[in-house]
Amino acid sequence: MSKTLFSQIIDREIPAEFEYEDEDCIVIRDIHPVAPVHVLLIPKEPIAMLNQIDDQHAHLVAKLMQKVPAITKQLGIGDDFRLVINNGAEAGQTVFHMHIHLIGGRPMTWPPG
Ligand code: 5GP
Repeated sequence: MSKTLFSQIIDREIPAEFEYEDEDCIVIRDIHPVAPVHVLLIPKEPIAMLNQIDDQHAHLVAKLMQKVPAITKQLGIGDDFRLVINNGAEAGQTVFHMHIHLIGGRPMTWPPG
């Protein structure tokens, strides 16, 4: 199976603006930001979509969420931000390597489109 776009970024085969990296995940700036702050929190394991996680990913999913406060602090967006996971093409997913959008720096509306 060919590498995902995000695996190529993780392996430095495609450039990206990194904000954070550890043994389990990276945080990069989205190339087409929809808000003043728009980063992608991406597990290094190339899980295609959220709907494919199972019990063995419990630690990873918890770790991704636990990272959010430190990342929002680092990016200076305080307590006002949104997390988005698009699951499946009809929901807007375009890169099939699970990731969490972290968006902030402007007021948000609800419901999303
Ligand atoms: P999705 O649509 O799958 O939820 O989100 C994929 C995101 O990846 C999009 O917001 C898109 O702008 C971003 N993206 C696509 N290609 C690249 C790239 O080469 N570099 C970076 N940093 N972001 C990308």
